[in-house]
Order: sequence, then C-alpha cells, then structure tokens
Amino acid sequence: MKGFGFAAHGGMDRLAYVDVPVPLPGPDEVRVRVGAAAFNRLDRFTLEGIPGVPVALPHILGSDGAGTVDEVGEGVRDLDRDAKVLLNPGMWDGTCPACRAGREALCRNYRILGEHVQGSVAPFVVVPRRNVHPLPDRMTFAEGAAAPLVFLTAWRALKTVGEVRPGDRVAVVGAGGGIPTAAVQVAKLLGATVAVAARSPLKEAKTRALGADAFLAFSEERPLDRVLWEWSEKNGVDVILDSVGAPTLPRSVRALARAGRAVVIGASAGPKVELDVRTLFWRQASVRGSTMSSRAEFDEVLGHLASGRLRAVIDSTFPFEKAAEAFRRFDAPDLFGKIVVLGPTN
Ligand SMILES: [Zn+2]
Repeated sequence: MKGFGFAAHGGMDRLAYVDVPVPLPGPDEVRVRVGAAAFNRLDRFTLEGIPGVPVALPHILGSDGAGTVDEVGEGVRDLDRDAKVLLNPGMWDGTCPACRAGREALCRNYRILGEHVQGSVAPFVVVPRRNVHPLPDRMTFAEGAAAPLVFLTAWRALKTVGEVRPGDRVAVVGAGGGIPTAAVQVAKLLGATVAVAARSPLKEAKTRALGADAFLAFSEERPLDRVLWEWSEKNGVDVILDSVGAPTLPRSVRALARAGRAVVIGASAGPKVELDVRTLFWRQASVRGSTMSSRAEFDEVLGHLASGRLRAVIDSTFPFEKAAEAFRRFDAPDLFGKIVVLGPTN
C-alpha cells in the first residue's frame, strides 16, 4: 500500500508517498481501514528527525485516525468488522510500574502512533486493541481524526498537571493551532476564566467563538507578561499553557500568580530558555511538563466528545492525494484548528 510520510528525514521536500506492505494485525491488535487522519505539529518534528527517537524507514506520518475495523488479530473477540472507531494515539506497555498504577502517560516505554510506529495517513493502520474506541455517533471520521491528540493533551495538561479549578484564570499562549482550540474548550469545561494570548489579532473572533473570555494580542511594545498581568488585574495568572517555548516561557512565568503553574507541552519555537527563578520561589509558582495522557484521561475526553461538550475544530479537509498540500497548511497565517486528510478510499 502507499502511505504518506518520508523515506529519509529532512524538510518538507522529503514528504512523499511511500510503499509499505499492508500491515498485519498481531495478537491483540486491530487493523483499521482509515476513514480520516489528521496532522499535528509532531509530524513535522518526526519528519525532521527527533534526537533519540529512531524511526524505521520508510515512515508513515499521522498520530490521529478514525475509520472502520478491517481485521483483528488473535485474541480480539469484542470488535465487529466494519465497526466505526477512532484511535487513541498513545501507546503504553501495560506492564511497567507506572502502567500498573494506572499512570500510563508515565510509561517508561510510551510510544506515539506516527512518531515511534507507522502512522495513520495511509489506507490501513494497525494498533493495539486497547487503542481502538467506538466512534461517537455524532462524530464524522474527520472529527474522529481531528479530536484525539489535541484534546487528550490539553485535558491532561490543564486538569491533571495544571490542576485547573473552577474560577482559576487560565491563559493559553498561541492561537489557531489544534492545541489552543482544544485547550480553550477544556479550560472552560473545567470552570476557568480563559484568555488566549497571540501575536496576531487575526484569530480573535474565532477564538472567542470557542468560548475564550479574552483575546490578548502581544508584541515587542506590549510583551506577553504585561498583557497577562493586566488581564489578571495584577493578580497573576493561575495556569498558563505554553507550547511555544523559548520566546514566551520566561514571560509566561513572570505572569504567574502566587502558586501559579506554567504547564509546558511543547517548544515549537525553541527549547532553551533562561528563567528568573526568583519568580518561582517568591510566588511559590512552578513550571510543569505534560505530554499525552493516561487511559482514564482519554476515556474522560471521549465522554465529553460523545456528549458534544468538546468539539473538534477542523481547519480544512484534504483528499489523500493532496496530503503534502495539507501538510503545508501549518504555515498558513490563517490556520485555525486541525488539518484532516481523508483515507484514500474516501
Ligand atoms: Zn508502562
């Protein structure tokens, strides 16, 4: 079959359709016929090559997917062929101490679909049975592909790691990507007052339509910490979700309230930062890291997607043949939400 990915690491010019055998489901695995897949920023890092993460080449991208059950491996008896499903992109071994304690996100062998193993932008994808969930009735394949990674990430980062409580002030740094569109909804669901801070004011209307209480444009003249500080009426922000890294994290930390939490879920603009730690001890604030989710967190997210309280935001949907064009949408200044690629037979 032809999947979309790369045969050698590098830039966007390496993106290609690659030939791989149709994958066979092993014991306790399921082969899914892909109805839709979605891209994440992670795909770009995987393409470039992540230090310490060896990838078998050629590699198929895509951490998110939804489709129908095509074939099941030995030991799988509770799934009907052609059942509509969506995929949990996080894979854990189920045997290490963290997994046995129900803290799968901390698994020492944690892997991500499309990063460590062949991904979903293909006719078929094989995943462990426990990564396959019924697609909620209200969701299309495109929505089922758009939702999982960004919502499970936002959920764990804000609820579990950020400990957002009703009435907290929460700020999300960056607008328009899949994570901010998920994080605004999750923070509102948790009862917070939510601001989105971004350099460009272009996405204000769409961000507010998702439920954000404020949209803060920042610049050299009006830096991030200042707009956050003013928004919080000089109390500081309780939880700040920062996936940008170098250019923003030091200023995010400066805007924290007493006992505030800056939750780092990525470093899209650079990983090395210099922090004034006096803010941390004097305000008893903290910088915390979060990634992906545990099984129970995924189940919570799925429940909210099924009830319609959380909704995937789709920027655009492309046919399989235009996957490279879809990938380039990441650089579009008007990007808002997830980039979806339909399966080749859709
Ligand atoms: Zn484990």
